[in-house]
Amino acid sequence: MTLLRERITIVGASLAGYWAAETLRRDGFEGLISLVGDEQHEPYDRPPLSKKYLAGDVRRDQLALGDVDKLDALDLDLRLGQRATGLDVASQLLEVNGVSESYDGLILATGARCRTLPSTDGVMGVHTLRTLDDAEAIRTALQDGAEQMVVVGAGFVGAEVAATAVNSGMLVTMVEALEAPFSRVLGQEMGMVLADLHRSHGVDLRTGVGVDEVLTAPTRSGGDRVVGVRLVDGTEVSADLLVAGIGVIPNVDWMEGSGLDLVDGVVCDATCLAAPNVVAAGDVARWFNVRYGESMRVEHWDNAVQQGAHAARRLLQTDEEAQPFNPVPWFWSDQYDRKVQLAGRSSPDADVRVMTGSVDEHRFVAFYGHEGRFLGALGMNRPRHVMQSKGLLEQDVSWDEALAFAAEWD
Ligand code: FAD
Ligand code: NAP
Repeated sequence: MTLLRERITIVGASLAGYWAAETLRRDGFEGLISLVGDEQHEPYDRPPLSKKYLAGDVRRDQLALGDVDKLDALDLDLRLGQRATGLDVASQLLEVNGVSESYDGLILATGARCRTLPSTDGVMGVHTLRTLDDAEAIRTALQDGAEQMVVVGAGFVGAEVAATAVNSGMLVTMVEALEAPFSRVLGQEMGMVLADLHRSHGVDLRTGVGVDEVLTAPTRSGGDRVVGVRLVDGTEVSADLLVAGIGVIPNVDWMEGSGLDLVDGVVCDATCLAAPNVVAAGDVARWFNVRYGESMRVEHWDNAVQQGAHAARRLLQTDEEAQPFNPVPWFWSDQYDRKVQLAGRSSPDADVRVMTGSVDEHRFVAFYGHEGRFLGALGMNRPRHVMQSKGLLEQDVSWDEALAFAAEWD
């Protein structure tokens, strides 16, 4: 049975929102779909922003999530440059640019925004990276002859931007408060492999030290420009460009007082339902993943695509028909000529075993296991093996079964 709805509104015209719209049409929904987004651009893909687009290797029009014909075929009420400003789930009223409108079904896909370094607002040369406009600004600075970049935070944005900047000839210093980059995601041992990858490409990676102060100097035209950073150990690093990749905050502020449960994201049940006739997907959604028996929020591309589609279907289903959203999380990250992929998860107390290839050559697959359970697989330039491992994780095979499977690899 398909629930009768005439008007579905999607807030957030990006990856999860676009896939939700696409899925609604593919599954035969013929009513009005409003796709509301506060950016001026038609839906675009973010991964190239820190990689090929930043390097100048892809054009703006190549970032589009759907080409013009595809967007037209979806027959959307596409409302760009419009911001959702309020919500009341009890009366099914959404406020856009301050004006109330009703919905039959609502998909929340407002993603996340960057954390910023304190006291850097308006300082020239200081950037974060989330949007096409952010990437444009950094790319322009690179092309205008910036020479020394400080990257604050060696997470995904930091590592990818550092790799792109080094490849384009910049001197790059990357500062990370943890002892090893990515250690929360990959564990200490594999974090050190990532550290080695960056150092071997010439990045001056400083770990176990935070930034104490962003150093600035006044410009002739007024305002301040970045000239470097002072680290908490007292050392100073010169820079004419600073990119902060210090994590994100889910965009839920506009939903305060809506009746939704907001705890580091929009809290949903196992099926992505946040309230009657309201679902959430992508970076903003915190849902209960029954596979792991815990509530999680995932900030990666594949999750936004899968969850956007799942949440859209959920809106068309009755409570009895609804299925849990229980994926094995998966991501990739391109750094230099390496494709880093993690299927599943690591854990601080996991047993880590290299199953094939060589860590020193930065081409390998490592497995994570704990108490007889196979938890995850990390690969560098081994996409086929990572995808096979993802299949094993989806089947919930034991640690011993996973080891036996990988023993067959060359
Ligand atoms: P978002 O993409 O954040 O989109 C949310 C949209 O909602 C935005 O357009 C936002 O402006 C809009 N919005 C917010 N508030 C409102 C409001 N009140 N009203 C209207 N609109 C609103 N993942 C990978 O797995 N691999 C990668 O290589 C990779 N590379 C990345 C590179 C970069 C530079 C970035 C920033 C992310 C990358 N990711 C990658 C992560 C991936 O892109 C995100 O997980 C994905 O974009 C999340 O999609 P989303 O639709 O949930 O949120
Ligand atoms: P991130 O991956 O969460 O990494 C942030 C890093 O900055 C962490 O190592 C964090 O350490 C550190 N940090 C936090 N505050 C700091 C501070 N004040 N000074 C120095 N370091 C600090 O976030 P991100 O790199 O900013 O990326 C933003 C978002 O884009 C994330 O959602 C990410 O998943 C997504 N993204 C994904 C990809 C990909 O999947 N390939 C690529 C680009 C972006 P702690 O852990 O100690 O806080």
